[in-house]
Amino acid sequence: MYINPIIEGIEISDIRKIHERLVNYKNVINMTIGEPDIDVPQEVKETVAYHALNSRIKYSPVGGMPELREKIAKYYNENFSGNYNAQNVLVTVGSTEGLASVLKTILAKDDEVIIPTPAYVGYEPLITISEAKTKFIDLEENNFVLTKEILEKKITDKTKLIILTYPNNPSGITLEEEEMVKIVKFLKDKNIYLISDEIYAAITFEKFTSFAKFFDEFKEQLIIINGFSKSHSMTGYRLGYIIADEKLQNQVKKVSQYNVTSASTLSQYGAIAALDKCSDTTKISEIYKKRVEYFVNRLEKLGFECLKPKGAFYVFATYKNIEKFKNMKSFDFVLDLLEKTELAIVPGITFQVEGYVRFSIVHDIPVLEEAIKRLEKYIKEK
Ligand code: PLP
Repeated sequence: MYINPIIEGIEISDIRKIHERLVNYKNVINMTIGEPDIDVPQEVKETVAYHALNSRIKYSPVGGMPELREKIAKYYNENFSGNYNAQNVLVTVGSTEGLASVLKTILAKDDEVIIPTPAYVGYEPLITISEAKTKFIDLEENNFVLTKEILEKKITDKTKLIILTYPNNPSGITLEEEEMVKIVKFLKDKNIYLISDEIYAAITFEKFTSFAKFFDEFKEQLIIINGFSKSHSMTGYRLGYIIADEKLQNQVKKVSQYNVTSASTLSQYGAIAALDKCSDTTKISEIYKKRVEYFVNRLEKLGFECLKPKGAFYVFATYKNIEKFKNMKSFDFVLDLLEKTELAIVPGITFQVEGYVRFSIVHDIPVLEEAIKRLEKYIKEK
């Protein structure tokens, strides 16, 4: 039977493919998926359990429960600046649905979307589904630092959108505020949106600036994507949100309504508890920071070179300086490593960068130590 060729042309992500292979291994250390190992806060669990037992869980209003929308706006204004209100917030089924609904709302056939690499795997397929085109910016020569000048060169009259992810998945790097100022100034009043995917903004190791800081001059073009999957480990609750101009949100809301009706009411109760009772993620950031620093340090001793993470829970490292791996494709590296040592990681090519691999630091130090031992053995024996 007939299938839309655009959909046939899209593949399940490499991360999921590798993740699914892991059932075949008995002693695997899984550093593939970005799934926090830290538990969901007890307050969230208790609130959700309470409502499951005592409330009649009805459809949520389209766009989210007013109370939650208000709390998200307040959370952003207080933690990341901006002057948002509930009308600027749309609650979504994970940030993934937020992204999908925004992209469907703003993109038309042949529009161009600019994304610097390394880039999160979730964007390109959604852009392709909208029949728009993804234009990646290869930043390797500039040490993966985006500048206004580099961005400017990529923009054409078809560019409708730029997607930036800081702290970045897979690298954990952030963008200097100075550069953000230049980028905002350059984009301002151009007919181009900026999506700032800030899903790791609550997991940072030093001062972090959100694009919300540029609310006053930039609010009509700025679309912030965020959610509770990483900050509160609520991956399975599927709860995210979009913060944007009210006029745009009224359009996005229609797409979201006809796609999903609304996010889960139960999960929204959980998110309210997360913001009311455990919005401070300093301790979680400290845990990830300690682990990430440990892992970077150990990897460098093995000869890897790492991008220095300023947030999130990943390490993106190149093995190109290790002579025997110099010319190896990242996918081959990852499969061979898995086969020989049962250590599972993600190839850089998944994020459009060859010669690199991503480690998901979602384990305690003893497991990370074992991962390093396996890597060391692999390198020695190769
Ligand atoms: N954006 C980035 C950069 C991510 O890394 C992820 C998940 O890994 C998502 C969005 C999607 O998160 P969710 O749909 O669980 O909110």
